[in-house]
Amino acid sequence: LDGDRIMTEPAPQQVASDSEELPPPPIESPPPPPPEDPVAEPPPTPEPVPEPDVIVWEPQTWYSITSACVTPGCPQENVIVSIPMFYSNNGQLKFIRVVCGADGCCGKDCRILTAVKLDPQPVEE
Ligand SMILES: [Zn+2]
Repeated sequence: LDGDRIMTEPAPQQVASDSEELPPPPIESPPPPPPEDPVAEPPPTPEPVPEPDVIVWEPQTWYSITSACVTPGCPQENVIVSIPMFYSNNGQLKFIRVVCGADGCCGKDCRILTAVKLDPQPVEE
């Protein structure tokens, strides 16, 4: 007899298992592209102070001038300043000076860039 063929073990059941249904691993989303660098604008380079015109100073004369400090590192470097009334003194260059005198500035002579003789000359009192 073949009676000893007894199913001693239950047929393996399909065990519903979640193990087969794990959600797929999260896909590593690529990192967002780095924000586009703003176009790096170069810092504004100060306009170099032009070479001054050759100024012919008349003595005892009032001028309207522009000047600029040319001391490297001075806060006023290359900042052109207008001086509406500037006296030429005796007309000698060593007496015709504009000093860089703002707060924190170098206190050195500025370069006089232009000079326009005032017309009419202001009346001296
Ligand atoms: Zn200065």
